[in-house]
Amino acid sequence: MVKTAAIIVAAGSGTRAAQGTDVPKQYSNLGGQGVLAHSLRTFAAQDMVDAIIVVVNPEHRSLYDVAAGQAPSVKLLPPVSGGASRQSSVLAGLEALGELRPSRILIHDAARPFVSSATIAAVLSALDGHAAALAAVPVADTLKRAAPDNLVAETIERTGLWRAQTPQGFRYPEILAAHRRAAANITTTFTDDASIAEWAGLTVALVPDSAANTKITTAEDLAMAQASVSAMEPRTGTGFDVHRFAAGDHVWLCGLKIPHTHRLEGHSDADVGLHALTDAILGALGDGDIGEHFPPSDPKWMGAASHIFLRDARDRVTARGGRIINVDLTLLCEAPKIGPHRRAMQQTVAVILGIDASRVGIKATTTEQLGFTGRREGIAAMASATLLVPG
Ligand code: MG
Repeated sequence: MVKTAAIIVAAGSGTRAAQGTDVPKQYSNLGGQGVLAHSLRTFAAQDMVDAIIVVVNPEHRSLYDVAAGQAPSVKLLPPVSGGASRQSSVLAGLEALGELRPSRILIHDAARPFVSSATIAAVLSALDGHAAALAAVPVADTLKRAAPDNLVAETIERTGLWRAQTPQGFRYPEILAAHRRAAANITTTFTDDASIAEWAGLTVALVPDSAANTKITTAEDLAMAQASVSAMEPRTGTGFDVHRFAAGDHVWLCGLKIPHTHRLEGHSDADVGLHALTDAILGALGDGDIGEHFPPSDPKWMGAASHIFLRDARDRVTARGGRIINVDLTLLCEAPKIGPHRRAMQQTVAVILGIDASRVGIKATTTEQLGFTGRREGIAAMASATLLVPG
């Protein structure tokens, strides 16, 4: 069931940001990927988001396909064509979700590539107590209203003023009804969806956001965003783990339960593959190891599913403003056979990490019956991870 869906609005034709090209800003290059791909990835990695739909200008379909291919596809619905205004584009996105009938909806501008997972979560939690909520930043600058000749007409008291950002969150039936009514009202044009909620009489809560969730409008905005992305540095880490066999009838490997003549012994579910991957990511961050964050002495982790550990490592990357470029894993064992499960393992790890399956390597080898893995006493795993983190 789709509880929460996200609409990412990418239908604008604005080419102000992309100097000398006719590439609209939402598809401009930002760190080797389209601007849109950045927020797609953040929404896809957020556990509370079940489905994502992008509203596009049909003339940009090939640009969309490239950007969408740079992000995980697992929650992504087919794109929907937008209208002449932002408002009509959002309505097209809302209508396209009619069959899914999500209970909550997030609406986000593709031109804000730096939205954080924490902001998405905060907007969604605000919906527990309010009909609508939006990410916003208190105004810090002194505000002037200009007369037509660019002379100052007045200074506006900034106390209590906020800048509206996105995402903005709503309960689906209410915002759909409000948008439909607004579309029938020819005298008013709304520049964001919270305004439509206010107009419809819904209570709208402000959720304090970071100014880093900036909107790329001009060429200068794009250049500043590119500079901040290129300040990211690549990091690599490695992980290694071993678990011994004990009496049992299945093993957990890369999040899959695989029938086997033995089980793997360990405090948690002994998923040797996910443990090595977790340590590889923690290693790249210089942030200890799995045993430090999840001590075997703590009964809380008895029998724990190891995706918890890997998810925690991924969240540590996100919290630093970084992202996972790829991970690579080699399992060393005589049995069970890994080949038949390789694709499912790749998919499972990709979902846990919120990255595309093409960024997950799963390999296996025997050790030619040499050593402890050759004697079928246990399974070893080695992994590497490459990250980009702010320098
Ligand atoms: Mg282990």
